[in-house]
Amino acid sequence: MAGRAIVNGIRETYVDLRALHKQLILGLTTRYVLVLVVLAILVTSNLLLLQHQIELSSTDSAVINTSGRQRMLYQRTALLAQQLAITDDQQQRIDLHTSLQRTLTLLEEAHEELMGERDGLAHAADMDDELRNLYFKGENSLDRRYHSYIDLLRDLIDTPHENRAAQRALARQIADRGIEETMLAQLDHAVLLHQRASETKLRNINRQQGWIWLAAAFTLLYSALAVFRPMARRIRDEFKELDNIKHTLELRVLERTQEVQDLAQAMEASGEAILITDRDGIIKYANQACLRLNGYSKAELIGQHTRIFRGDASAAVNYADLWPSIQSGKMWIGDLVNVRKDGSRYNAHLTIAPILREDNSLDGYVGIQSDITFRKQAEQRLQNANQELDRLATEDPLTAIANRRVFDRDLEEEWARARRANTSITLIMIDIDYFKTYNDSFGHQQGDTCLQQVAQALSQVLSRPADRAARYGGEEFAVLLPDTTINGGIEVAETIRQRIKSLELPAADTEVSPYVSVSLGVASMVPQPDQTAMALLQAADQALYKAKKSGRDRVASAEVIDTLSNA
Ligand code: GH3
Ligand code: MG
Ligand code: MG
Repeated sequence: MAGRAIVNGIRETYVDLRALHKQLILGLTTRYVLVLVVLAILVTSNLLLLQHQIELSSTDSAVINTSGRQRMLYQRTALLAQQLAITDDQQQRIDLHTSLQRTLTLLEEAHEELMGERDGLAHAADMDDELRNLYFKGENSLDRRYHSYIDLLRDLIDTPHENRAAQRALARQIADRGIEETMLAQLDHAVLLHQRASETKLRNINRQQGWIWLAAAFTLLYSALAVFRPMARRIRDEFKELDNIKHTLELRVLERTQEVQDLAQAMEASGEAILITDRDGIIKYANQACLRLNGYSKAELIGQHTRIFRGDASAAVNYADLWPSIQSGKMWIGDLVNVRKDGSRYNAHLTIAPILREDNSLDGYVGIQSDITFRKQAEQRLQNANQELDRLATEDPLTAIANRRVFDRDLEEEWARARRANTSITLIMIDIDYFKTYNDSFGHQQGDTCLQQVAQALSQVLSRPADRAARYGGEEFAVLLPDTTINGGIEVAETIRQRIKSLELPAADTEVSPYVSVSLGVASMVPQPDQTAMALLQAADQALYKAKKSGRDRVASAEVIDTLSNA
């Protein structure tokens, strides 16, 4: 029972812990996933920003480069135009013309790059006002300057070499324009503004990145504080709890184990034979006393059915009520005859109790066997002794018929019964004739033998179970005949007289008869309220006296006096 409680305790604790564990995992997983999602968003944003940064810096640097190239191309054009204006060498002019054509293309390309259809400055939405003004506002905007410059250049290129004056004039104009300080300053300023804008954008991106890093750091801090710290704390607490439970359980198990060990030792050491079986009577445990008593080893007994103690079927008589009793969960106490391994038998006093589980279902039985052979023998001896005592108390030792005490008791009982039933009760008193002389002649021992033979003959005559003969004293006998009338009594008395005569025991005094004879007095009464049994006794005595007086060897009755017979 205790073991089962421990097991249940462990199971409950385990279930509790599992639930706690589930809860813990769920909570922490949620937080952890949250942290991961936030981190993933941050990393993605950072990557996007980085990409944007790269794109921006490449665009910006392209714009800056192109602006620089434009400045350089203006100057180069100006130089070429100046050379064209001053040289007279035909071939050189042709070369310069070609170079100018090339720079025109380059200028157009650079302009196209800057003002391009898709992402050029003309379409830039985020361009700051100063830069926009510089490029597009007013007569002296860089865009206007470019277009007029390009127009001049085209004109120059289109002007044939033969028209030397117009060519020189245009060349001079281009040379002047190309190195015009204000335009160059404008271009430098544009580059500067581009650089500044790019730096501002980069600063913004950097700031955003800074925020992202801050958020990441915050997220990590959060995960450290809100996920990992509580996780570690809870795990630690759980382990602490687990340790406590383990400690408690260990203590309990140790206690129980100690108890069980103590019990087991007590059982092993017990002088009583103890055995434990399962529900089907298969032996699971037997202590030393049980092994000693039945002569088996532990290995021989464990796993056997208890009928091993029964030997053959003849010893199983007392088992009839055993199984129904214990199977219904009741204790059975009783005595049986058990058989040892060597076949010898012994009287066993058995106590069998059911072992119940917590749900009251039957788990098995515990049995205690005691060898009560000595007790049984002692009981038998005592019983014999009692019987002997009883016999001695009630039986006349010489003749083995009932003694005077029994007679007195029987007389009282039958008298009372006859009075209740209002029936007659008859008493015959019998006395051996001249027995003193018999003793004197044949000796006392012969006299004893004679008394025994007379008593035996007396008993043989009585046929009804209620009739009783007793030695009244000396050589006197009494016969009690319940529910018998005087005539019946006389008849019985006569039969007795004749039976004793027919023994043909030689008499000492042959004056009356050659054989031992008796005189009998018969009295019969229906007991009256004012009478006692003594009246019947006295009447029978008087009848006997009469029989003696009137010659012996005869029957006399109290009422029918002198009903003599002398056969
Ligand atoms: P009666 O015909 O008048 O009865 O004469 P009786 O001699 O039989 O009468 P009495 O009463 O004088 O003698 C009885 C004798 O019975 C006396 C005694 O020695 C003898 N007796 C009594 N008890 C025993 C006994 O247990 N064994 C023997 N052997 N003799 C006994
Ligand atoms: Mg006598
Ligand atoms: Mg006598």
